[in-house]
Amino acid sequence: MERIFLKDKYFVPYIPYERIEKAIDEVAERINHDFRHFNGVPIVLCVLNGSILFTGELMKRLNFPCEFSSVRLSSYEGTLSTGITRKVLGLTSSIKGRTIIVVEDIVDTGKTITDLYALLRDAGAEEVKICTMLLKPDVYKKDLKLDYVAMEIENRFIVGFGLDYDQLGRNSKDIYILDKQASMKHYLIFGPPGAGKGTQAALLVERFGLRHVSTGDLLRREIAAGTPLGLQAKTLIDKGELVPDSVVEGMIASELEANPDVKGFIFDGFPRTTAQAEHLDALLAERGARIDAVLSLAIPDETVYERIRHRAEVENRVDDTKPEIIRNRIDNYHAKTEPVIAYYKGKGVYKEVDGLGTIDEVFNKLCALM
Ligand code: AMP
Repeated sequence: MERIFLKDKYFVPYIPYERIEKAIDEVAERINHDFRHFNGVPIVLCVLNGSILFTGELMKRLNFPCEFSSVRLSSYEGTLSTGITRKVLGLTSSIKGRTIIVVEDIVDTGKTITDLYALLRDAGAEEVKICTMLLKPDVYKKDLKLDYVAMEIENRFIVGFGLDYDQLGRNSKDIYILDKQASMKHYLIFGPPGAGKGTQAALLVERFGLRHVSTGDLLRREIAAGTPLGLQAKTLIDKGELVPDSVVEGMIASELEANPDVKGFIFDGFPRTTAQAEHLDALLAERGARIDAVLSLAIPDETVYERIRHRAEVENRVDDTKPEIIRNRIDNYHAKTEPVIAYYKGKGVYKEVDGLGTIDEVFNKLCALM
């Protein structure tokens, strides 16, 4: 099963058709068992639109006489503090004294199904049984007994097998789930070397629960581990040069893959070239995501220079020690990295703050932007 794209979002496979079929077999068997001695003809009531495929599959498996009807529930009209403000639409035959098997696609908070249950009882139904293909047990808040549940799922947005995203996806025979990456936030912390990106990123990570991805840190880790990639990178980093785009792009892709459950990412020291920015956009677009904001720390070159020299004493970074290397890094920033600003301005996500205040002052300004 492959990812699918609906309207503007990516969805990933969640429940394959074979599992859905098996769950329907089982639930149908239970209903057949319960109705084996039933005297009378129940009405199978399909709640449109989402339950259409499920009802069809279920009915094929029911082996006792039954009628079919379908309804829709009106959306809320006004808000009354007492009672239900919805109506059952499309019920053509009388249900007075009848036994109803309501067939739902999904029950989450239970609001719809409890309203429908009450409305059907009010309309004179003798007995109302509920059968749902899916239940989100973590969010179901009602006392109403759900007689037949085919499958339980976690609280995620799904489509397929009758369920839609903006009316699309109902015709998929498998069930898909919104790709988590699509709902994650993706930020860049941007600025010249020594602007305070690492410091601010660490604070933002703590405040917003994001994952910090610093390509500089990842490269230093490779160097410390003595990997071939690390050795190759070291010769460039020690001269104040950038490592090849493909190297850092590969690292970013691995970080995205390795962290499917985070709330979002803050990239630090990446992208450093327009080509890297384009690559990142493509990588995120594949996952239905995009850069939400570029948080840029603006500081003048002379401050950059002083800060890097100061950091050299604290962090013992070779690329921070020699004046000519620092100059080369600043030159590379202007030549290769600064054009990235125009790239993101063009996308309307570029936001800049004055990076010269105290750590707290800058942090507060960044928080306001997020
Ligand atoms: P940083 O810790 O971000 O200052 O990165 C230290 C060094 O790692 C840089 O001066 C570059 O040599 C290299 N580096 C880090 N990120 C990148 C990147 N996105 N593209 C190319 N080189 C990078």
